[in-house]
Amino acid sequence: MTAGAVDVLVIGGGQAGLAAGFYLHRIARDAARGRGGPAPSYAILDAHESPGGAWQYYWDTLELFSPAAYSSLPGYQMPPWTGAGNPSAAHVVAYLRTYEQRYGLPVHRPVTVHAVQDHPDGGYLTHTDRGTWESTVVINATGSWRRPFVPRMTGAQEFTGSQLHTTGYRGRAAFTGQRIVVVGGGNSGAQVAADLLPAAAQLTWVTRRPPRYLPDDVDGRALFALATSHVRAVRRGEPSPGGVGSLGDIVAVPPVREARDAGHLQAQPMFSTFTPTGIRWDDGRTVEVDVVLWCTGFRPALGHLRPLGLAMDDTTPATDRELPTRARGRGGLFFLGHGDWASPASATLVGVGAPARTTVAAAIEHLTRTSQVRAPSGRPG
Ligand code: FAD
Repeated sequence: MTAGAVDVLVIGGGQAGLAAGFYLHRIARDAARGRGGPAPSYAILDAHESPGGAWQYYWDTLELFSPAAYSSLPGYQMPPWTGAGNPSAAHVVAYLRTYEQRYGLPVHRPVTVHAVQDHPDGGYLTHTDRGTWESTVVINATGSWRRPFVPRMTGAQEFTGSQLHTTGYRGRAAFTGQRIVVVGGGNSGAQVAADLLPAAAQLTWVTRRPPRYLPDDVDGRALFALATSHVRAVRRGEPSPGGVGSLGDIVAVPPVREARDAGHLQAQPMFSTFTPTGIRWDDGRTVEVDVVLWCTGFRPALGHLRPLGLAMDDTTPATDRELPTRARGRGGLFFLGHGDWASPASATLVGVGAPARTTVAAAIEHLTRTSQVRAPSGRPG
């Protein structure tokens, strides 16, 4: 079943997909006013039922690294946050909902992409649970929320308590009075551990290496500036000031800072095995626990691209040196929002705008070069 044919198909309607949508919208608007080239037709496919991407699944007390004024996508400022601290995840969801309405972005949801393959006549065929789309360009903005990572551990099958990944954590209320282990030395681990402190009967925080906090005054703005200057320097062959990782792993957002300064966030080294009722370290020490919460990150959600047989750089697709959002050797396939491997800071609200702009410009250039402009068509999903 054909669902539609467009010049540019964006897969994923989180912040990255919407940023691409903004620039496509702007070019189409200019074309309607007689400025620039012809209007590209485009659609955004999103597997979730409602707007907001991963933000709609974060826990209730999560707050952004930065104030609203520094957490915006291109074109439209995030409205001010009137609560304490930085904006909440719910504030971001509301912002993203308004954003796609404001620009009338053609988001089709829920539509899940199962496979993308080369179109025999050029371009791509994108197979979804609601039919197949044809397009000349695919911009993949599927994030990583749908692909949580949990390391394999000896004895995990025998452990009788419960285990869940950050993706299943909605807030501390469900864990009142429990003995909990939080695993992970990144932002999720630190934030979830700090969040659980008032509710848990016993909280053990384990990390593979001692926690590395960024300086307290470093927030999302500084991270973005640092990531950008690092990548620019590397690209020019100049000495790098050091990437974000050179400063630390954990942004000291106020709840984390308070818990750390009060001495409540004392990390233990990673345990070596599970026991049926808890965890055990190499030195024989054990702790009885009810819940293990894996804050161990994600892998890019790219399984649907397997039929393309993309060149890989270790675990992520190889990208173009000149334009890091473009798949190497493929004029019409781009990655947006996946993080540093696809462009510096592109996994953040403030950081995705710049790569979205260059990606859409490259997509338009590809359309022009291949002269594969399609008549707009497509049914709402
Ligand atoms: P997502 O938001 O995950 O959106 C991807 C979309 O693609 C989803 O809507 C999904 O339905 C869709 N999709 C996936 N697969 C398919 C498929 N096969 N078919 C169709 N659709 C599909 N960022 C900041 O900027 N500031 C912060 O302060 C900040 N704090 C954070 C704190 C924590 C603890 C965490 C975990 C993250 C934080 N982030 C922050 C990062 C930010 O939340 C994510 O990087 C961001 O949501 C990624 O956006 P995205 O659009 O790339 O992916």
